[in-house]
Amino acid sequence: MILEDPEFGEILVRKNPLSTGIKFSISTSGRLSMSVPKHSSNFLIKRFLERNRALIREKLPVQDPKTQRARDAKIKILKNKAREYLPYRLEYYAQLYGYSYDKCRLTHANTRWGSCSTNRTISLNIGLMNVPEVLRDYVILHELAHLHHMDHSSAFWAEVATHDPHYRVHRKRLRAFSPGV
Ligand SMILES: [Zn+2]
Repeated sequence: MILEDPEFGEILVRKNPLSTGIKFSISTSGRLSMSVPKHSSNFLIKRFLERNRALIREKLPVQDPKTQRARDAKIKILKNKAREYLPYRLEYYAQLYGYSYDKCRLTHANTRWGSCSTNRTISLNIGLMNVPEVLRDYVILHELAHLHHMDHSSAFWAEVATHDPHYRVHRKRLRAFSPGV
């Protein structure tokens, strides 16, 4: 199973019948993985992650401190920009097209632009501030449509198309950008 974390990105979770407790490891490339007992619930896994967040952060390979500082600064600027823009843009489209979501969360995972969870939380990547507005809007409309269709069925795409008739082009153009900061 892959767990999506706003700070650490994708975490590989392996269920291990022999393990008695949750353990985490970090690959040489810096990717985080967790080994958990066979019947661990998602709740338990996430709680473990929250409790050990600081520890994991410390163990992650530290890049060149200068690069790291530059990256931190970049994230901070982007986060501030995103905070003043994305939740309002989301709210604007939700009201315009009659969607109701519960919360808007900002992330900076490396792998996705946005997501919509079953508890109606919409997550948007702060990296969206680096892409043209029309592509940003496409991601927002895409996630809003997931409130009605939690899949990528033809009904889902038909709904995206009613709000963004050029979504195919936008989707393609978005591939030229990376969500990582
Ligand atoms: Zn989707």
